Amino acid sequence: MKITILTLFPQMFSGIEHSIIKRARENGKVEISLVDFREYTKDKHKKVDDIPYGGGNGMVIMAEPIVECIEAIDPKHQAHRIFLTPAAPTLTQKRVTQLSQKKNLLILCGHYEGVDQRAIDLCFDETISIGEYVLTGGEIAAMVLVDAVARYVDGVITKGSLDNESHTNGMLEHPQYTRPREYRGMQVPEVLLNGNHKEIEKWKTEQSEKITNFVKLIEKEKS
Ligand code: SAM
Repeated sequence: MKITILTLFPQMFSGIEHSIIKRARENGKVEISLVDFREYTKDKHKKVDDIPYGGGNGMVIMAEPIVECIEAIDPKHQAHRIFLTPAAPTLTQKRVTQLSQKKNLLILCGHYEGVDQRAIDLCFDETISIGEYVLTGGEIAAMVLVDAVARYVDGVITKGSLDNESHTNGMLEHPQYTRPREYRGMQVPEVLLNGNHKEIEKWKTEQSEKITNFVKLIEKEKS
């Protein structure tokens, strides 16, 4: 999969230079390029933002550098283009798996107060929010999206590891334990030690239902 990220702060992306995503990049499973769209402004001072029409606080990123940049790097509109914004449908695991089937993604990170709507209307296929809160910029959101999507690209993670994960079948995952058997007086549940796979599966299902129902209850109380 090819992923192009448009940002004013390419130096923020060290978060996807390590661990599994690093290996996926090295193995050629995922190719990530960072494009600083400031390079596409025609302003001699490289200014990319201005005050909002209609008043209001902060600065808005102008349409021109974004549109010029996209027309230069994706002239035939081959990439599925995503603008990250809190004013959008929230990312889900289902959408993550669907996006992992795309060959080519282009992601725009906004900053400051946001982006001139005309750039979004002209160039983008989809808007995505990573959650119901506001970040200072789209860079961390882009890393979240890339990390979540890259895990589902063929060959990045062993297939079986993805099967029963939280949010995959409408359920959350059961608790996990590893060595030692006792830690600070707390024991690993006996059922996980007896080698009875039927009982272990039953325990995992029960625990999974328990945590799923607990989280649902908390979510309901919040709303
Ligand atoms: N004024 C905007 C609003 O109220 O919707 C918020 C702008 S935010 C400070 C700056 C940029 O951060 C956005 O353009 C977007 O790219 C990114 N951003 C912030 N929160 C986000 C979220 N929850 N999901 C995705 N992107 C987000």
